[in-house]
Amino acid sequence: MKQPIIVAIDGFSSSGKSTMARRLAAKTGYRYIDSGAMYRAVALYALEHGMIDDNGQPLADALIAALPHIEIDFVPQADGSQHTMLNGQDVEAEIRRLRVSNVVSPVSAIAQVRKALVSMQKAMGNNRGIVMDGRDIGTVVFPDAELKIFVCSSPETRAQRRLKEMIEKGAAVTYEDVLANIVNRDHIDSTRAESPLRRADDAVDLDNSNMTIAQQDEWLMQQFENALNK
Ligand code: C5P
Repeated sequence: MKQPIIVAIDGFSSSGKSTMARRLAAKTGYRYIDSGAMYRAVALYALEHGMIDDNGQPLADALIAALPHIEIDFVPQADGSQHTMLNGQDVEAEIRRLRVSNVVSPVSAIAQVRKALVSMQKAMGNNRGIVMDGRDIGTVVFPDAELKIFVCSSPETRAQRRLKEMIEKGAAVTYEDVLANIVNRDHIDSTRAESPLRRADDAVDLDNSNMTIAQQDEWLMQQFENALNK
């Protein structure tokens, strides 16, 4: 049997990277980790503990002091998906809400938050055989990943996708709200001082604006086979 590899999938918000990553993991039997869910869980913790000010900015010192009390886990579900747990509580639905999306980028720009989560993420890859998606997976978390993908598509395409997903889940949101959140997060994520969203030099690019999920699956599986057989 081939040695398991690490697959790092990075890209902008709502670029469809989580869907691709999850489906590849299911097909290959690899572990899937949604690193964005971890930052969202920390943002939810901050919201629930009064650590977000009236301007939507995190109280960094308080949040940094609380980091040792924040435990994040993933629990596999019968349907093959997994739920994010924050201190033993299932927060999967809660972390996807717009109130969390609106504060997660400033929370994840705090250096100590990143340091804590990156070290947890590195540990998850100790045995390889993992697909992780995020913003800095190919550059910071797993710079030695055998396969790195950088996904992009236009903000409008991403907002449409995200809106559809949120409406299906029963959220009352408008296209304008979702687009504004995506554009704002793109800006914060790519201009922050600490590990900004950046394409790894050895990443393979994918513009999936006009691709179906089946086409993306096929493309990614081909990349995976190539990397595995290198
Ligand atoms: O992937 P998702 O859009 O759920 O991520 C939510 C937010 O978490 C991003 O907008 C970004 O601010 C942050 N994030 C990050 N580094 C990662 C994954 C997510 O900074 N590796």
